[in-house]
Amino acid sequence: MSALGEADPEVYAAVQGEEARQRDQVILIASENTVSRAVREAAGSVMTSKYAEGYPGRRYYGGCQFVDEAERLAQDRARRLFGAEHVNVQPHSGATANTAVYFALLEPGDGILSMDLNHGGHLSHGHPKNYTGRFYRIARYGVHPDTERIDMEEVARAAAEHRPRLIIAGASAYSRLIDFEGFRRVADGVGALLMVDMAHVAGLVAARLHPDPVPWAHVVTTTTHKTLRGPRGGMILCKEDHARAIDSALFPGIQGGPLMHLVAAKAVALKEALAPSFRDYQARVLANARSMAAAMAEGGCRVVSGGTDNHLFLVDLRPLGVTGKDAEAALGAAGITVNKNLIPNDPAKPTVTSGLRIGTPTVSSRGMGEPEVRQVAAWICEAIRRREDAAFLEGLRREVAALCARFPLP
Ligand SMILES: *Cc1c(COP(=O)(O)O)cnc(C)c1O
Repeated sequence: MSALGEADPEVYAAVQGEEARQRDQVILIASENTVSRAVREAAGSVMTSKYAEGYPGRRYYGGCQFVDEAERLAQDRARRLFGAEHVNVQPHSGATANTAVYFALLEPGDGILSMDLNHGGHLSHGHPKNYTGRFYRIARYGVHPDTERIDMEEVARAAAEHRPRLIIAGASAYSRLIDFEGFRRVADGVGALLMVDMAHVAGLVAARLHPDPVPWAHVVTTTTHKTLRGPRGGMILCKEDHARAIDSALFPGIQGGPLMHLVAAKAVALKEALAPSFRDYQARVLANARSMAAAMAEGGCRVVSGGTDNHLFLVDLRPLGVTGKDAEAALGAAGITVNKNLIPNDPAKPTVTSGLRIGTPTVSSRGMGEPEVRQVAAWICEAIRRREDAAFLEGLRREVAALCARFPLP
């Protein structure tokens, strides 16, 4: 038996349950992925026991020679992967990375122009219930009602009207390419700084399968656990002239000691992302998303904006006469994990929604390809139609588990 199993059967059972869930279910949460064993080993390593406030070579504690090595590897690899001038690999999460940037570049009361949460933006970009919505003056841009794509003319208009100090590009539920160069032009036009939050698409950017924000943004933030396929955490990339402000905003500004086991795991994931096979993986993520979106449309859903250029897409379920909430529950019963999601200009409440967000990073990491994701799309449409039929959903759950067994987790 494992040490955990012996010491703490209750937590052990929860971990085993989670492992079985990930193993036996088709997971289509666009913000999740499944990491390699090497990443997990680093994340579960003895580095969790080490305090290392400060930065490599400039720590407040002794005994940092080995964690320094791990952090320098992570920094070097991130700089190489993204062609960044400066990188900070210590943020505990994506939200914390963003906080450090605001703390470094803004004063309370300054203006931020960012994407409307209801159109795909993120809470940490100025939602009223987030601290950003209370500390800063927030203006929003959205997607055009006809194209359901970001409308750069609207962004420029909003920037001219609100005169923000910071413009944010980047989203959590947007399936189209973002014109980072266009955002920079708008920012320059009003004397604003540009932050790109590439949390969702960082892996695609690393593989050069998505426009690169690094040349255009003053600062780029990201998570490391979404398409980038690393451990949970965040990262900041910036130009050299913002490096000092960003580093000291993160520590001692808002964080204490870095989570060195996760910094080490980030280094491992970044090495994986530098390997040629990572590009093949990201290409599969894209092909799977496109294929699945097309199959969902054939099944009677409306795909928001008509398709996808990245790892995710949104489906409008109204043609099927079901809410996001009910579809999520039916699919859950069939062993398919998705999340309900607002669609642009959704008439339903955020707790109900008219849509689903579907992403392909996890199934692609397991090695599933287009035949498999088309099968899953057909199952989703059928499960939604027969959502009251518990026996059907139970039978489907077994088929889903059989598919998963052919594509084991790393
Ligand atoms: C996921 C996400 C974040 C937050 O990441 P956490 O690690 O959950 O804090 C920030 N910005 C965007 C655009 C995201 O999608």
